[in-house]
Amino acid sequence: NRRIVLASRPKGAPTQENFRLEEVAKPVPSEGEVLLRSIYLSLDPYMRGRMSDAPSYAPPVDIDAVMVGGTVCQIEDSRNPEFEKGEWVLSYSGWQLYAVSDGSDLTKLGKNPTNPSFALGILGMPGFTAYMGLLDIGRPKQEDTLVVAAATGPVGSTVGQIGKIKGCRRVVGVAGGQEKCSYAKETLGFDECLDHKAPDFADQLKMACPDGIDIYYENVGGKVFDAVLPLLNVGARIPVCGLVSRYNATKLPDGPDRLSLLMGTILVKRIKVQGFIIFDDYGHRYDEFAQDMTEMLKTGKIHYREQIVEHLESAPEAFIGMLEGKNFGKLVIKVNSE
Ligand code: NDP
Repeated sequence: NRRIVLASRPKGAPTQENFRLEEVAKPVPSEGEVLLRSIYLSLDPYMRGRMSDAPSYAPPVDIDAVMVGGTVCQIEDSRNPEFEKGEWVLSYSGWQLYAVSDGSDLTKLGKNPTNPSFALGILGMPGFTAYMGLLDIGRPKQEDTLVVAAATGPVGSTVGQIGKIKGCRRVVGVAGGQEKCSYAKETLGFDECLDHKAPDFADQLKMACPDGIDIYYENVGGKVFDAVLPLLNVGARIPVCGLVSRYNATKLPDGPDRLSLLMGTILVKRIKVQGFIIFDDYGHRYDEFAQDMTEMLKTGKIHYREQIVEHLESAPEAFIGMLEGKNFGKLVIKVNSE
């Protein structure tokens, strides 16, 4: 068995030294357990939070423990009558080739799923996050202008496309670089997509939102939020999903202090700002999402892009790159291709 453990806690951006590859014995399932062979490993921004021991909504990964992560696995050996050898499951077995489970944390994906890795993306946690955050907190209406950053990632791309399906008048994406922006417009159907690295990004956003912003689906924070704030309309909604621009930050941003400007805007414009943690807040609505999203995928209403990187050993570099925007689409490691 091979696995990647957390060797040390990053200060700022994670580096290769924060991870360690280990060779260990292949686990053996006891009575009632199954042996899982990882096929796909999901890499997600929240893992940066788990590498840190700062207080959060979930406990940190311990030093020397296997990095956490959602996986799609095949049952390699079963001593649990509920599972058969060869069956596919969604698991949470982390950055390793093999793991054992008593089955209680597994979701069955069938014997021959069409796109097993989709369970880590569009049909799993990121897709669900986009769907609930936009529909339940964002509450899109036909006259709305919706803005979302990380617009080609699994969350942002889904938010924008659902916004169009729900009839939003204007959907404006924000992404890193022209290639991603063109994809958001041409393939995902965004009305506009702007590069947040452009020096005049704030002016471009103002031009792209002539009627202001009604929903800002917050994925990144930082400069994108600064540019959004003055454009928010009365009654705007802000589902606060993630703040990826700050995940590697070691201190608060330099002044001036903008808190009173923020609170003043929220007050005067009667803005609704709501954070959410997907499975804690909406776990009970997963089936409703899965049904709806499966249908939207089947009918071609939703496009989904994956970036599949081979080999478990590539996970640290791919993960570090994702926090800097090097991924293009949902980042997935194909674990057992070696
Ligand atoms: P992505 O695959 O979109 O990856 C993160 C992206 O963030 C990068 O590709 C990059 O895209 C963008 N980014 C990084 N730094 C900056 C920056 N300084 N300014 C602007 N953009 C930046 O990730 P996901 O779709 O998986 O996740 C999107 C967000 O949703 C994250 O914040 C994540 O933490 C959050 N999330 C929250 C959940 C919840 O329950 N609340 C559940 C799941 C996800 P680009 O190159 O386009 O800038």
